[in-house]
Amino acid sequence: MLSLRGKDLVCQQAVELVTAYLEGALSGKDRRRFERHLSACANCAEYLEQIRSTIRLSGAVQADELTPEAREELVRLYRRWRSG
Ligand SMILES: [Zn+2]
Repeated sequence: MLSLRGKDLVCQQAVELVTAYLEGALSGKDRRRFERHLSACANCAEYLEQIRSTIRLSGAVQADELTPEAREELVRLYRRWRSG
């Protein structure tokens, strides 16, 4: 399970929470923490938007309905984002 300690998320934690966030799987506390990080971090906000549009384009309603191809695309986005 997710284990978040401390007040603020670092980017890596935020990225790991994106899918859970989009699936509505975060607790209220974690969701607020995640959204607070995004409001202060343009990189993560951008990453979330990219994932959202990938999900939209693939026709899936939720992240767990993504096709394997769409998931691959997300992994590619993630790697590009991490290296940028
Ligand atoms: Zn961040």
